Amino acid sequence: MKILVLEDEYSIRSFVTINLKREGYEVFEASTGEEAVEVFEKNNDIRLAILDVMLPGIDGFEVLKRLREKSPSIGIIMLTARTHEQDKVLGLEYGADDYISKPFSPTELVARIRSLTRRISLSDAVDYEKDEIKSGHFTLKLSDRKFYKSDKEIELTPKEFEILDLFMRNKGKSLSRDQILNEIWGKNYFGDLKVVDVNMRRIRKKIEKDPANPCYLKTVWGYGYRWEEDES
Ligand code: CA
Repeated sequence: MKILVLEDEYSIRSFVTINLKREGYEVFEASTGEEAVEVFEKNNDIRLAILDVMLPGIDGFEVLKRLREKSPSIGIIMLTARTHEQDKVLGLEYGADDYISKPFSPTELVARIRSLTRRISLSDAVDYEKDEIKSGHFTLKLSDRKFYKSDKEIELTPKEFEILDLFMRNKGKSLSRDQILNEIWGKNYFGDLKVVDVNMRRIRKKIEKDPANPCYLKTVWGYGYRWEEDES
């Protein structure tokens, strides 16, 4: 699998690159946002990008937006500074799948990347199970990783797809935020529960008529969320 690594600091970039190559990934490096966008345009089979936020030219959020416009299904992990808490949430709001706070260990880096690439590779292997899941107006096509409301396609990030997959397989069941975190981000997740809520908010904006009063993805107060099948 091809991974793009954007980081202007040479020492961090080579640290990430060495560890990813050791894991068998093919790595493309970029030291500016502009370069990262260019590399991605030339290699559109890159499936995952690791983006630093603070950069000399356009910042990591801008790169995130541009990559998402070109490919809704690319996996994106942001590298954030521990002192910039708001960057984590901002990145997730803009459509990142995950973030890693600096400084990080090779173990943490590899665990987070594996968790995201596992799902991306699974979707590349067609026919690993029944091809679609339906619930009311919604259809998830598993092999080509597409999601439809009635006949209209709604573009999802990899994590949003996994979350809807989880909920549509568990119709009417209340899932706790911890359960969701474990299922989607893995047991070795180092971040916090906020990541669940931010993703839910983003999904609601995409699928609900009124995201403040959701009909499908309901809040279970003090616990988590529940998928309600629309009977109409
Ligand atoms: Ca930087």
